[in-house]
Amino acid sequence: HHLRVKDKVAVITGAGSGIGRASALHLARHGAKICLLDLNDDRSEDVEHKIKELGGDSLFVDTDVSDPKRIEQAIKAVVDRFGHIDIVFANAGINGTLSPIEDLTPDDWDKTLTTNLKGTFLTVKYAVPHMKKSGGSIIITSSINGNRSFSGFGMSAYSSSKAGQVAFAKMAALELARYKIRVNAICPGAIETNIGESTKPTPLLDKIKIPVEYPEGSQPLEHGPGQPEQVADLVLFLASQESSHISGTEIYIDGAETLL
Ligand code: NAD
Repeated sequence: HHLRVKDKVAVITGAGSGIGRASALHLARHGAKICLLDLNDDRSEDVEHKIKELGGDSLFVDTDVSDPKRIEQAIKAVVDRFGHIDIVFANAGINGTLSPIEDLTPDDWDKTLTTNLKGTFLTVKYAVPHMKKSGGSIIITSSINGNRSFSGFGMSAYSSSKAGQVAFAKMAALELARYKIRVNAICPGAIETNIGESTKPTPLLDKIKIPVEYPEGSQPLEHGPGQPEQVADLVLFLASQESSHISGTEIYIDGAETLL
């Protein structure tokens, strides 16, 4: 079939699960060399194994996107192996602690912002020097929560990090256009992944819930959440030349959830 990202070197953070995993497999199927960056080695090794079965080339690097030293080393490992970077999918993220603002601790706030927003900055910062020569595409996983949410009670930190990622994508698009590096944010609605494992709801949440008419997680287009493979289709499009004139924008992929 048509190899839309043939021989491109793609760095994917949070590649061991959910949206990152599905995108890693999809890009591999379309000919990209995949660098899997994640905290979770068991799940990532499984993705690596699947890419090998597809006849693809991949490298797993155990890293924490919130740690400048480790992400710098991870990017170095990628460049040592493949020489340069064409595609960056800054996707690693957590829901973090869900709590009313008055009960949210400064440490909880930092954990969410450091993983989601600073992690995105660090990934892009260390990758850009290796993309400047031949250009490329950076895709950042934000969320509909950066803008609005129906089920997002207690998600002030998460939503702030996600809105920050959109602003960062726009500034990066402007700054990096001279190198023919495109930067876009994607904003998924509810997608069926393992993100629930990173969610720490506090009992205090009930204090701020307000009744909503529409059942949590429902979307006009689907009777339930979307699938990671549906997001992977968008990631492949943004990674490939088929989106060569798209930069500095945010794309909603939410089954029309935000229109409700
Ligand atoms: P997931 O939990 O299935 O996958 C996230 C992956 O990121 C995991 O493999 C985890 O180990 C990794 N990760 C977490 N912290 C990390 C760190 N500090 N360093 C390196 N890796 C780390 O969740 P997902 O839903 O696939 O999440 C991917 C992205 O999608 C996140 O940014 C999330 O905010 C966003 N998102 C998810 C949804 C949804 O409904 N699932 C909706 C909108 C946006």
